[in-house]
Amino acid sequence: MSAEAVSESKTAVRRGRLVVLAGPSAVGKSSVVRELRTRLPELMFSVSATTRDPRPGEVDGKDYRFTTRDEFQRMIDSGELLEWADIHGGLQRSGTPAAPVEEALEAGRPVLVEVDLAGARAVRKAKPEALLVFMAPPSWDVLVQRLTGRGTESDEVVARRLETARVELAAQDEFDTVIVNEDVSRACDELVSLLVGN
Ligand code: 5GP
Repeated sequence: MSAEAVSESKTAVRRGRLVVLAGPSAVGKSSVVRELRTRLPELMFSVSATTRDPRPGEVDGKDYRFTTRDEFQRMIDSGELLEWADIHGGLQRSGTPAAPVEEALEAGRPVLVEVDLAGARAVRKAKPEALLVFMAPPSWDVLVQRLTGRGTESDEVVARRLETARVELAAQDEFDTVIVNEDVSRACDELVSLLVGN
């Protein structure tokens, strides 16, 4: 190997791993992701843009980038989004800004993108190397309990979320791995090993 090649191979950074996490609303993705971010400080968690209103406790720029519909449309038109989708029958739109994901992968950081089913399919098309992970509830009843128990949404919104959940659960075979979220720490362990394990 020439001296140049040696120095190039020393500076070349191995690309980070891209994991796409999907699963029904209220399955516990946010809790798992919160723990994951403390356990893996090098993780780049993609902050999605969304047109929905913040829930109590959600912070703009950390949980989501909350945008108007017009601003979201501008992002679509300018090609800034890796993927985007109409969520819950068009009640809201959410999407993944492409540039921060690509920059983190190039810098060798593991990246986690949390999306809905349509988003997972879109990322797979755009980035075939992505690992698709589905988070499932221990049972349908547990999911219904968690969704209705949150108490922050109207009956109409809950009904739509349940309908979306039914469709998403039926598609879990399309994913590379299914994590059953019975216990936040254990689900987190599984994600850590997918993101940075051997
Ligand atoms: P929530 O409004 O409860 O935070 O999320 C509703 C759904 O939108 C969830 O299934 C979540 O994974 C999905 N979602 C959040 N961000 C994105 C995104 O950037 N793109 C897509 N396609 N779905 C997203």
